[in-house]
Amino acid sequence: MLNFDDHIAVAVSGGKDSLTLLRILRKIERRFPRAKLTAVTVDEGISQYRSEAVRLAHESCEELGVDQVVVSFRRLFGKTLDQIVRSKKKLSPCSYCGVLRRRAIHIAARQAGANKIATAHNLDDEVQTILLNIFHGDAKRIARARPVLVDPAGRFLQRVKPMCETPEKEVALYAYLSGIKFQMRRCPYLETALRNDVREMLKRIEEKHPGTKFTIFRSIERLRDSLKVPVADLRDCLQCGEPTTQDLCEVCKTLHGSNK
Ligand code: SF4
Repeated sequence: MLNFDDHIAVAVSGGKDSLTLLRILRKIERRFPRAKLTAVTVDEGISQYRSEAVRLAHESCEELGVDQVVVSFRRLFGKTLDQIVRSKKKLSPCSYCGVLRRRAIHIAARQAGANKIATAHNLDDEVQTILLNIFHGDAKRIARARPVLVDPAGRFLQRVKPMCETPEKEVALYAYLSGIKFQMRRCPYLETALRNDVREMLKRIEEKHPGTKFTIFRSIERLRDSLKVPVADLRDCLQCGEPTTQDLCEVCKTLHGSNK
């Protein structure tokens, strides 16, 4: 996942997972003089939630001596997530948030001059995503959502998930034992997400049948190579010029409302 001379943009939200990842990568990076870390924090504009997380992310970066770039939906897209959610009712808040946040992280990582993006998805996140993609019948995404994402055309930065095999409980334990100050409050939109139901379901199954999450993760890892997904041709989005497989990218569809 990582090379000795990488400049890694670490997506840091201010939650336990991303602050743990930042701390561990900082420990590793100190041993590699040609490596560099930049924390990238996205302020989606979620009232009574995100400002605390941004502050905690900033404090951790100061403590660890890591540069931080903060970008906001308002500055990049002209609207906060709260405003988008109020004006659009077709999709869940998390659907809008996910599309725009991925773009925001990419923009910030490019601005920082990074060649790689590291995100703090843990084992629980990965298994939830696998099941969500199955529920949505999205075989392409199951095939593509690898722990290391490389764009053969080189138009997207490489994305890695160093904690994808670490259960959430272990990340939480590390965060507590390391004295990391992280945001405890949950996003107010979380309850509306199907992911939340999948999380609860997996929790119940894992309690009765320990090891299930690992088994699902490993099964999909083995299946992925047999799922043949053609490499999509990329072109420039007619609206914003970012790479996309269609005339309009997902971000422009989300913002300008042609989402089906
Ligand atoms: Fe965004 Fe949904 Fe996560 Fe809230 S729970 S930060 S809306 S993806």
